[in-house]
Amino acid sequence: MRVGFPDFRLGNVLATSFTGTLSERHGDAVERIPTPQRLVDWLAVNGLAVDSCTTAQLDLARELRESIHAVATAAAVGDALPASAVHVINDRSAQGRAAAILTPEGNRQWRLSSASRVEDALSVIAADAISIIAGERDGRLALCASPTCRAAFFDTSQSRTRKWCDMNTCGNRQKKARFKANQGKNGRSAE
Ligand SMILES: [Zn+2]
Repeated sequence: MRVGFPDFRLGNVLATSFTGTLSERHGDAVERIPTPQRLVDWLAVNGLAVDSCTTAQLDLARELRESIHAVATAAAVGDALPASAVHVINDRSAQGRAAAILTPEGNRQWRLSSASRVEDALSVIAADAISIIAGERDGRLALCASPTCRAAFFDTSQSRTRKWCDMNTCGNRQKKARFKANQGKNGRSAE
């Protein structure tokens, strides 16, 4: 990873991994794709390699990201989907020309129409978001229990009772906070 930039949080679901490039939306927000090159890096890690990205394309990506976040959040709590955000997702989905390719090993890859088509990559992310919000995939949309995070995530656990967007970050922090709180309680009761 490049020095000086926040690390990526990688998950199994493309659309919610993408919304996770902005974390702590309700606390000290961390922008994990602060430059066009960082979006290029993120896309490469997620099997959507592009050669270049302009600041205008980064703006398109961030607008899609916040739209997916807004619509997935509404879907998770059963609210009406915000129309303008739905419009952005549909727009990005329709503007891409990515093709699914089957590899000889039987895996799926994405082929973009040209090496610099960030729009193609965004259309794949938009389509992924549509598939989870429309309930086509096995899992449940939920909101992270961390009050400073509240990220929408896609719970594919057997029990569908996952509480945090990410066990290694939000889940761990919560556990540590609870441990500290308990220690405080024990300390007081010993006095
Ligand atoms: Zn979280």
